[in-house]
Amino acid sequence: MYLTHLECPRCRRQHDAGRPQNLCGCGSPLLARYDLAAVAKVVTPERFPLRPADLWRYRELLPVADPGTVATLGEGWTPMLRAPAYGAEIGISDLLVKDEGLTPTGSFKARGAAVGVSRARELGIERIAMPTNGNAGAAWATYAARAGLGATVVMPLDAPTICRRECVAAGADLRLVDGLISDAGRHVQKLIAESGGTIFDAGTLREPYRLEGKKTMGYEILEQLAWRVPDVIVYPTGGGVGLIGIHKALQEMRELGWISDRLPRLVAVQSTGCAPIVRAFAAGEPRAEPWADARTVAYGITVPAPLGDELILDALRATAGTALAVDDAEILADLRAFAAREGLLLCPEGAACLTAARHLRAGGWIRAGERVVVLNTGAGVKYPETVDVSAVPVLPA
Ligand SMILES: *Cc1c(COP(=O)(O)O)cnc(C)c1O
Ligand SMILES: [Zn+2]
Repeated sequence: MYLTHLECPRCRRQHDAGRPQNLCGCGSPLLARYDLAAVAKVVTPERFPLRPADLWRYRELLPVADPGTVATLGEGWTPMLRAPAYGAEIGISDLLVKDEGLTPTGSFKARGAAVGVSRARELGIERIAMPTNGNAGAAWATYAARAGLGATVVMPLDAPTICRRECVAAGADLRLVDGLISDAGRHVQKLIAESGGTIFDAGTLREPYRLEGKKTMGYEILEQLAWRVPDVIVYPTGGGVGLIGIHKALQEMRELGWISDRLPRLVAVQSTGCAPIVRAFAAGEPRAEPWADARTVAYGITVPAPLGDELILDALRATAGTALAVDDAEILADLRAFAAREGLLLCPEGAACLTAARHLRAGGWIRAGERVVVLNTGAGVKYPETVDVSAVPVLPA
């Protein structure tokens, strides 16, 4: 294993990666650091195509020492689809959609869960707990079952009910809260405080390894594009782990010498019903203020106070990217338009990215001919209510 230590991006303090860790003493999330010079000596990109089609093909850049502790359901190596018909309609001729809907548990959260749970098992953790908007809880409950760990999951009452069912099926200790993910978070903190150290806090960015799983989206995008950097990557941003992870992967690949110095411009997409990052980006602030009365159909991005706000804003500014909020009616219209043109039913979060790409192209921020990669972070079939079928005629029997 090439993992050397954990580093605080805010105060630069180093932490021991050999035992369970949560936040730095200064309150910042921690980042996993590797001996990249050693990795560059033992593996080159030509090797990856010979390996299994899952995220563990990047094992030298992942934090698991013993392959025997890996809990896998075949996550990763999702398709990168061209979208020529919809692309032509919105003026983006080179539009690509990376479809995370084909990941186990139907969302890219499985990437973070596979790596986070595997590392937790390796470090001797027996029970994890987390607040969730649905998909992360479903994924962590599923991989915890796979790894033989206990899982306590707290989610809002109006999170997608399929995620609730996935947690129950996986045998997790599921609690529902009549509120938002931030309310669920307070319940989790209370449970952990009362547990006397027997429950590990696996909330978003509160442990360092979920990010490592999600960063593999960045490696895959580049491998699937033959290591040629796209111009723009558009990402639906809730907690921001995917965006921070893709940025981290890009920086690692640059240090490894696998890609050029120019990074893609990263775009954080939020809903007008919950846009703390967009507001902070527009105001030039280094941190985001909590968003009041958060509400959107794109449930995965309803995060009023993301813990990784500084890292998200830094990723946007460091890549000359931007942040954009889109409204629910447009998200649902683009979801329908995309399915009709391209035959792929997006999750609302993925559809939000297409709405954003459309606006950015119309406003000239995305230029003609640029290569744009959009992340569809989950399976459209997990959100059946996004398509209205009330007008479908019913024939007599
Ligand atoms: C969690 C989630 C997001 C947001 O991901 P972050 O990495 O937390 O920003 C987007 N889409 C879906 C479907 C999700 O489940
Ligand atoms: Zn610190």
